[in-house]
Amino acid sequence: MKKNENVVIKVEKGSIAEEVGICPGDVLVAINDEEITDIFDYRYQINDEYLEMTFRTPEGEEYVAEIEKDFDEDIGVIFESGLMDEARSCRNKCIFCFIDQLPKGMRKTLYFKDDDSRLSFLQGNYVTLTNMSEKDINHIIFYHLSPINVSVHTTDLELRKTMLKNKNADKVIDIMKRLKDAGIEMNLQVVLCNGINDGDILDKTISDCAKFMPNAHSMSIVPIGLTKYREGLYPMAPFSKEDAEKVINQVEKWQNKFLKDHGTRFVYCADEFYLKAERQLPDAEIFEDFAQYENGVGMLSLFEKEFNDEIEKTEYNIESKRSVSIATGVAAYDLIKKLSDIIMEKFPSLNINVYCIKNNFFGEMITVCGLLTGQDIISQLKGKDLGEYLLLPESLLRNSTHTLLDDVEIEDIEKELNIKIKISTNSGDRFIKTILNTED
Ligand code: SF4
Repeated sequence: MKKNENVVIKVEKGSIAEEVGICPGDVLVAINDEEITDIFDYRYQINDEYLEMTFRTPEGEEYVAEIEKDFDEDIGVIFESGLMDEARSCRNKCIFCFIDQLPKGMRKTLYFKDDDSRLSFLQGNYVTLTNMSEKDINHIIFYHLSPINVSVHTTDLELRKTMLKNKNADKVIDIMKRLKDAGIEMNLQVVLCNGINDGDILDKTISDCAKFMPNAHSMSIVPIGLTKYREGLYPMAPFSKEDAEKVINQVEKWQNKFLKDHGTRFVYCADEFYLKAERQLPDAEIFEDFAQYENGVGMLSLFEKEFNDEIEKTEYNIESKRSVSIATGVAAYDLIKKLSDIIMEKFPSLNINVYCIKNNFFGEMITVCGLLTGQDIISQLKGKDLGEYLLLPESLLRNSTHTLLDDVEIEDIEKELNIKIKISTNSGDRFIKTILNTED
């Protein structure tokens, strides 16, 4: 890991950073002429209302981005880990850990288990708070680093110790209280394991976490991801349709209560629960400010809303017949198929083949697009009618590269399938524009 090379890896859509022209690949050199040596410096400096941020482009040119913003307002930049020395590995052995379920032989960095609060501020990672020293907590409070994303999982503290296999896991509530008293904002998550931290225990967890409002800004309930590589691991049952239905009903009951009492729904189910329960996706509005978007919460509803807003005003004159194709994971297939049918109805000379790619690499219980591999895409699309090009979602790619999870490159897929590939960002409006070749 390079020290003091603070490389931007992502600029949020619609953010201040995008507005002033900061781009992925740029290196942060200084803020208000102060050299930034670590994440604490950065978060402290970035709070100012007026900033002069000096960046160096990949071509070696320096420029100054002048920013006026509200105190505490985020500028929408995600850095790789240059603002830290070395990422700290976690001290837990969680019974639901996804990394323990990876097959052998993947890229080494994928096996690194981080639980580092600095990565929470840099990249939005969730941390269990079991890996924090007294000094870390004091740093966060002193510099008022906020928000922090916390993996709560359960507030039954004995159960939390068992689930995380860490005797310090019972300190979570005490640390959260200190963060709350210091005015630190928190986004919380629960990885729900069937028959372990669900049912009455989940009710208790939601109720306990709600006591941290308004500092606790949002809470997500995300189902455990189960791959086919679980031999020797803690036995876990997947959620059935009925189980998922129960979880949604339970969470919706809490949402109604919180909306009445606090003016916010606060707690949200991941999209995967709605798909599993075969329930219609909720309207995008219920996810309020999409605080848990990166956790797969409200992603599909927002995509559909963006699509519907855009398709109404889209005019496009296709003179000759065209045919294109889209590949997506099982989870998003029904939605992508439905939206493609709407496009074809509006523009009948365009034919769109939507292909559902099963995750043979990790096992069929993994349905999200972001965990599809190049080898599954190649083997399942060989010999298929792909038309002019194949559209793939951006979530397949690692950190703005052209590489998929199994190290297969986009160029490899193009070569193997003899097709041009286009990448669509994860927004419904861009999806239409990419398909119709009308990107601005
Ligand atoms: S904290 Fe995260 S990385 Fe560490 S064991 Fe638990 S799930 Fe795995």
